[in-house]
Amino acid sequence: MGQVAHKSNGARTKHVPQRTCIACRRTDAKRGLIRLVRTPEGRIEVDTTGKRNGRGAYLCHDLACWDAAIKRRALERSLRAEPLTPENQRDLLAYRRGLTAAESHDADTDTAEELPRDVRV
Ligand SMILES: [Zn+2]
Repeated sequence: MGQVAHKSNGARTKHVPQRTCIACRRTDAKRGLIRLVRTPEGRIEVDTTGKRNGRGAYLCHDLACWDAAIKRRALERSLRAEPLTPENQRDLLAYRRGLTAAESHDADTDTAEELPRDVRV
């Protein structure tokens, strides 16, 4: 009954992993940044699950960071990967553009209608 209570001082500080955007160096908890991985084939892909194996790098949601990371080869440097192929760059930029679409108020891209509209009533 004589329990010597080891009074732990305050709440255990749970370690929230902080990631750093490779372009702007802003740190954030993991969820605030988008993970990119180098695949075994040497491509750099967006890891939407955050669980893929391989060397990872992080970018924040700031579109300028995506541009900078691609243009300044920050991704390749950070991932020790080969220079991005044009196709790989396009894929990453396509993903980046998807981020803009989510915030549709920032419409600097003209929304071209891709669906044929030949349905007449
Ligand atoms: Zn950033």
